[in-house]
Amino acid sequence: MSDLPTSAAPAQNSPVSAQAPSAVSFPVADRYAGVTTTAVRDLLDVLSQGNIISFAGGAPAAEFFAADDIRASFDWVFANRPAKALQYSSTPGEPELREQAARRVSRFIPTTADQIQVTTGSQEAIYLVGNAMINPGDVVLVERPTYLAAVQAFASSGARMIGIPSDDDGARPDALEDLIREHNPKFVYLIPTFQNPSGVCMQAGRRKEIAEVLLRTGTPLVEDDPYGELRFSGEFIPQISALPGMAHQSLLLNSISKVMAPGIRVGWIRGEGPILNTISIAKEAIGLHSSVVDQLAVARYLEAYDVDAHIRTVVEVYKQRRDGMRRELLEMVPEGATVTSPDGGMFLWAALGNGIDTTALLPIAVQEGVAFVPGESFFAHDPDRSTMRLSYVTNPPEVISEGLHRLGRALERWHG
Ligand code: PMP
Repeated sequence: MSDLPTSAAPAQNSPVSAQAPSAVSFPVADRYAGVTTTAVRDLLDVLSQGNIISFAGGAPAAEFFAADDIRASFDWVFANRPAKALQYSSTPGEPELREQAARRVSRFIPTTADQIQVTTGSQEAIYLVGNAMINPGDVVLVERPTYLAAVQAFASSGARMIGIPSDDDGARPDALEDLIREHNPKFVYLIPTFQNPSGVCMQAGRRKEIAEVLLRTGTPLVEDDPYGELRFSGEFIPQISALPGMAHQSLLLNSISKVMAPGIRVGWIRGEGPILNTISIAKEAIGLHSSVVDQLAVARYLEAYDVDAHIRTVVEVYKQRRDGMRRELLEMVPEGATVTSPDGGMFLWAALGNGIDTTALLPIAVQEGVAFVPGESFFAHDPDRSTMRLSYVTNPPEVISEGLHRLGRALERWHG
């Protein structure tokens, strides 16, 4: 018979159970004051509860995951490299994956494996670059709007974020230069290609102007590029980091989340010089290294399977979904509203105007059974409250249509 207690109740006379609940309140670091969970995380909690159609998360179309090839890659790792895969390893990442990453980045920027730091997704990369470079109170310049979880990550390192005024082509170079001269930021964080949330792809001329400002002022760039490979129309435009002189002055963040699977949590930073070492020290302190099993499986997948063919299949689907969602959305938004028309990526960005506050609209939409992300959370300050982000990739066409009907009913109630 087992001698383990059969009940979860604490043993009688145990000193722990005899005590009243602890009166200690744990201290919270100043830099976490005012930093909250992001609107998307909160929404995911709501969404797990009911029959709600979600346009909220940046979730790839799950029915197109290359599950068989990915499973075969994991099987290969356990069959061929079990001792390596299951053991502790080094912080910069597995040589196989760093090689594969360098090979992919080198299509645009000459890169060697030792210029790659593997990360647990790009989100960790964003946290690490902030953690490595920001002192509390330092300024970081971001786009208006920008990726909400980057705002959260930089805020948790104590950054003061200032939004760069932008137009239809992204951040304005003149405004960027003025802000750099006024605030001496630690770095500029940009998502130039199929931006999250706006979907905007900065054109080549504007990228060159931005690079000139950064080079002239000696300002580091953090270029976040998780969506660049998801182009379904138009021509490829080189990253800002790929422009002459910029490779030394930028950290380029890539992820396999949108091209392979976000659940695996693998990404990398391409960088040069001592900052990579500082980032590696920060990563060691946080988690020693990314999962070796996952790194080796991703390296195997990139080596043995045709990820580019997979991407070509997926973006064709995404293009159709963008077309469908945009057409139906334009039919129902009020007069004067705008909806972006991205050539790739995952998101439509709508500015509804007409006094509509999308944060207040959301609970009505959720009652109707549909969710989006209110635009407010994508602004570091002075939000445009009439904006919203909708993912067009996650749901099949008939579900998109049904979700938009529900959104239409929510808008009628708002006006009603
Ligand atoms: N950067 C941007 C701009 C994103 O949109 C996302 C995911 N939504 C990330 C980084 C994080 O991606 P991951 O950690 O899955 O690589």
